[in-house]
Amino acid sequence: MNGEVPASVQGIYDEVLRRNRGETEFLQAVQEVLESLAVVLDRHSEYTEMKTIQRICEPERQVIFRVPWQDDRGEVHINRGFRVEFNSALGPYKGGLRFHPSVNLGIVKFLGFEQVFKNALTGMPIGGGKGGSDFDPKGRSDAEIMRFCQSFMTELYRHLGEYTDVPAGDIGVGAREIGYLFGQYKRITNRYESGVITGKGLGWGGALVRTEATGYGAAFFAEAMMEAAGESFDGKRVTVSGSGNVAVYGVEKVHQLGGTAVACSDSSGYVVDEKGIDLEVLKQVKEVERGRVADYADRVASASFVPDGSIWDVPCDVAMPSATQNELDGDAAEVLARNGCRYVVEGANMPATPDAVRVFRRAGIAFAPGKAANAGGVATSALEMQQNASRDRWTFEHTEARLEEIMRDIHARCSATAAEYGSPGDLVLGANVAGFLEVAEAVHAHGLV
Ligand code: NAP
Repeated sequence: MNGEVPASVQGIYDEVLRRNRGETEFLQAVQEVLESLAVVLDRHSEYTEMKTIQRICEPERQVIFRVPWQDDRGEVHINRGFRVEFNSALGPYKGGLRFHPSVNLGIVKFLGFEQVFKNALTGMPIGGGKGGSDFDPKGRSDAEIMRFCQSFMTELYRHLGEYTDVPAGDIGVGAREIGYLFGQYKRITNRYESGVITGKGLGWGGALVRTEATGYGAAFFAEAMMEAAGESFDGKRVTVSGSGNVAVYGVEKVHQLGGTAVACSDSSGYVVDEKGIDLEVLKQVKEVERGRVADYADRVASASFVPDGSIWDVPCDVAMPSATQNELDGDAAEVLARNGCRYVVEGANMPATPDAVRVFRRAGIAFAPGKAANAGGVATSALEMQQNASRDRWTFEHTEARLEEIMRDIHARCSATAAEYGSPGDLVLGANVAGFLEVAEAVHAHGLV
């Protein structure tokens, strides 16, 4: 990837740009995929003829709706809800809901577009979609969160179904919100349709390992990359940005695999703990008290809190950006390279900017894009759907073994595809091409729909 769209797909990009102006993140994600696809068109003229790429770049359906709700003082608020049903060639639309003030159509489309390829890479029968709202859950009471979720679902339910569209959580949407959303869906439809949403509580259709899946999966993916280079996590220093669902369980698995996670963050700053992040304290602060990372530093003597600056200034062997999109730019990538970082594994969706990816490439840093490395979450969601469909419940060990197998398989497919298409070791190209081929074949088979 050199930051330029190859001539054979330039026309496609220009058209996407013309129709989606101002949707910065979506355009960035499309450009990154198109940069990889010229080599595919050289071998598959049918995709040019049938405009397969253009069709995959256009969502099948986009829903935008009003979400009115009342806070605890009786004040009325109006938020905007989104669901982008991007592609259903491989199965029902599948992808999370994000509640964050930054959410807009361009962000939801970028996430939905990435999700299409990610879901294809898992090898599971799921299409791609994404949704959310510009609602800010920070500082809201449980009752306010419930009222918002109920209002959101009162509109969204008509677009969902276990064979149609199956949401899950994402930033700002965890087990509590999934509970309220599922409850309202059940109430409106009068159906106990477990497979309509994933990330459910264990007592009512949820799957073991779903909570841990994305972070664990990213660590398994990192381990597979290291093994390919004859290395392991043993003795490696790791920085993990964020301290949400992906980051916490990324840290947990890194430790289990022999590495030491020495830093994590949230939007208020980062903490460094040279002894290794104490997971018990981190989980208490983040999952129980819903506090800030500074509270961690207050309780752990070996830790310090840095309110300004960048977590990427902390020297490490492995960086796992696991907070949000475009959080690691070119300058931060230069610092990582100078400090001897050797692996960057995206736990979040598109956390590294195109400039950062160029720096990694130049510096010989092995880089795993999110659509491959963080696919463990959605893969385990698909395992949850499998268990719901068969009215079964699997053990933690069995589910984790399936997750590890899926992550290793994704790594192997991306590596093999990169080599087959003339760029050995390029996991960005490998993921884009392998994901695209899987979707394109099904799109082609279904005719012009
Ligand atoms: P989460 O539990 O809500 O945690 C997000 C973390 O990132 C929090 O620590 C948050 O800090 C931080 N963060 C969010 N926006 C930020 C911003 N603009 N600047 C700085 N920090 C920010 O979310 P998550 O589920 O871990 O998701 C993290 C990333 O992984 C997202 O890109 C998501 O799309 C991706 N992902 C998640 C899953 C999954 O299964 N959860 C699966 C695949 C991909 P504050 O609390 O201070 O905001």
